Amino acid sequence: MSTASPASRSLSFRTRDSRWRGALAVLQEMRREPGVTRAAVAQRLGLSSGSATEITARLRELALLAETPAAASGRGRPTTVLGPHPDGPVVVAVDLRQEDYRCAVAALDGRPEVLEAEAHADRAAGRAVGTVARAVRHACDRYGDRVRFVSVAVAATVRRGRVAQSAALGWDAVDLGALVPHPGVPLLVGNDATLAGVAESRCGAAAGTAVALHVTIEVGVGGTLIVDGRPVEGMTGAGGEFGHLPFGDRGLRCPCGARGCWDLAVDGRAIARHLGDPPPRDPRTYARAALGRVAEDAAVRSAVNRVAGDFASGLAGLVNALDPGVVTLGGLAEPLRAAAAPRFATALRDGLMRFRRADPPPVVAAALGEDGALHGAVAVALDRFLTEEGLAAWASARAGRG
Ligand SMILES: [Zn+2]
Repeated sequence: MSTASPASRSLSFRTRDSRWRGALAVLQEMRREPGVTRAAVAQRLGLSSGSATEITARLRELALLAETPAAASGRGRPTTVLGPHPDGPVVVAVDLRQEDYRCAVAALDGRPEVLEAEAHADRAAGRAVGTVARAVRHACDRYGDRVRFVSVAVAATVRRGRVAQSAALGWDAVDLGALVPHPGVPLLVGNDATLAGVAESRCGAAAGTAVALHVTIEVGVGGTLIVDGRPVEGMTGAGGEFGHLPFGDRGLRCPCGARGCWDLAVDGRAIARHLGDPPPRDPRTYARAALGRVAEDAAVRSAVNRVAGDFASGLAGLVNALDPGVVTLGGLAEPLRAAAAPRFATALRDGLMRFRRADPPPVVAAALGEDGALHGAVAVALDRFLTEEGLAAWASARAGRG
């Protein structure tokens, strides 16, 4: 490691080198606000104009950042606009849902661009993982050694980085290791609702709030408590399984193996049960259709009201237990609230402890919608890359290539 060529030595940032920390800080500013000017970053970080210029020049040489001249504004000195480098590092992100998958790529600005999206031809683990692996391989072929992480959001309980079980996909333990075509590229696996919560806290409806609760309904209900931008995941990463709190009917057995799960009370399966319909094959689509018929069909309205009430009661319990500063609603949770707003509000209020009622946390729609899990998968991968070790590995790989 001590045989650096003159070229790579001039580009290296040693650990504990203050400019290395400065470089990370500059990249984090660019990530937070792509298109920010170098002058604004220098001011925020307390860097002199000369230091900022030197750091950005080195980051440019390392293909970690691109600079373009900023439009002249008033009397200030000319500056540049910072953005991701066109040949810079990327992460490949996958959102693996019950009905479909999407495969995307994102640079250091964290904005996922979807490359492939497709409904599952077959939800069986072997087939579905094989199809997604092909999409990841296409992305890795296209971006080569610029790919630093493959990060997967999956509709499943994730424990120690592996799928433990998934009621939505009908899976037990599944190894997603096959999703990475080259052994050198690290794989990150996270629960989709947890990752959507991460994204809401970083750049969505919970941005700026230290403690945020994200709750989403797809098939069942999931979510996470986020503290300072990080999910509270428990010892093995399998925490946040709010859907398996016993807020539901104790007479019903959940596919997870437990009794009385909240999951069964709040989604399309619950609406179908209250209407006397058979269990829907695709509870999301069924629920969406039912929410669209609330105005004209009294039976549907009654079923949706009941489900919205059961959802809001459970949510009140979570607020009592976790004391969030804001609650964000993802997936079908917000349309469900909108379709039965009075019932939702009453049930939420009834479930809150008295001292909370005067000042309950705001309950707001998630801002990132369907893209939340993809954004979150990108965010956790960039967290891992934007470290001294991550940048050093990138710099030495480039030096080796040159
Ligand atoms: Zn359950």
